[in-house]
Amino acid sequence: MVRLREQIMEIPEYRQGAIPADDAVKLSSNENPYPPLPSVVEAISHHIGEVNRYPAMTAPELVAKIAQHRKVSDENVALGCGSVEVAGQLISATSGPGDEVLFAWPSFTAYPTLTRIAGATPVMVPLTADDGHDLPAMAAAVTPRTRLIFVCNPNNPTGTSVSSAEFDTFMAAIPRNVLVVVDEAYVHFNRRADTVKGMDALHAYPNVAVLHTFSKAYGLAGLRVGYAIAQPDVVGALRRVATPFGVSDLAQHAAIASLDAEDELSARVDLIVAERQRVTDGLREAECELGDSDANFVWLRTGVNTPRVTEILKGHGVLARGVGQEGIRITIGAPAENDRVLKAAPEFAALTRRARQPVT
Ligand SMILES: *Cc1c(COP(=O)(O)O)cnc(C)c1O
Repeated sequence: MVRLREQIMEIPEYRQGAIPADDAVKLSSNENPYPPLPSVVEAISHHIGEVNRYPAMTAPELVAKIAQHRKVSDENVALGCGSVEVAGQLISATSGPGDEVLFAWPSFTAYPTLTRIAGATPVMVPLTADDGHDLPAMAAAVTPRTRLIFVCNPNNPTGTSVSSAEFDTFMAAIPRNVLVVVDEAYVHFNRRADTVKGMDALHAYPNVAVLHTFSKAYGLAGLRVGYAIAQPDVVGALRRVATPFGVSDLAQHAAIASLDAEDELSARVDLIVAERQRVTDGLREAECELGDSDANFVWLRTGVNTPRVTEILKGHGVLARGVGQEGIRITIGAPAENDRVLKAAPEFAALTRRARQPVT
């Protein structure tokens, strides 16, 4: 028998958001429902004949474009094959066996997986009763072994955000040698006025990094490109641990074209935000219990009823993401897709009300 690392075998195999059969709609992976913009398709088509070559390893054009957009310098930008790879780089660059990586739970399922791959120990702090980060409890969970903290804002899967006041109080309690990563995968959808902004935090604290992706608002999930903005010493470490040539040439050009089309993309984001409100209101009218979401999905605290609600939605041709016995996350799709969710709502509304759980 080949000797495999024991810690790796503790990692659950990744379950992709269900693949739609027949005419079911896929609202399980927080993807953008709209196809890429014509200018993005053109950029990809233009470079498709060059894929026999390796991409530019340091992607200087894309790095410069991101730096310009985020008003930082090139040495502040690290790229990866999706921000999930950049999250892995951040962990590898800071944490190994015996070190702790701290984050809220439930949150992005990649955090515990990537932490275990690096041989470090995940420390998961339960969310508050209203599904937000419990920052005081997270600060209290810091030990001399803590190397990295993820703050997922808005949080996947619950859609809650951290206010800038809460974040500042938290940072006052965190040692400056611990890296705090603000994961802003859903930042474009966040309309909350008092939310902490990753870029402000980056400028306010020497130990903050910001994580962004092209997969959600920009609609490039299939091309795999994301980035971190951080201090140059951190970026230097990230570049050392990055997968060589991890960001393909097509991904680089598509990302550049997307940044050039931010106005058009913002219009699409606005549509999704308007649909989020319509879905939230419709679910409440059907007497579902749910909080406001600041991301491109809604979260229903279905607890032990999660498998049942998943089945009811499936019966209406909707694939959503059930998270254990915690709840169910439904991506905001195109209007006709969201209509299916609202049509199903009266059948599962009672299962979303906490006071009545569990319902049998
Ligand atoms: C979707 C998501 C990402 C982005 O992943 P990519 O690898 O860039 O596609 C990162 N963080 C969170 C919290 C997410 O939900």
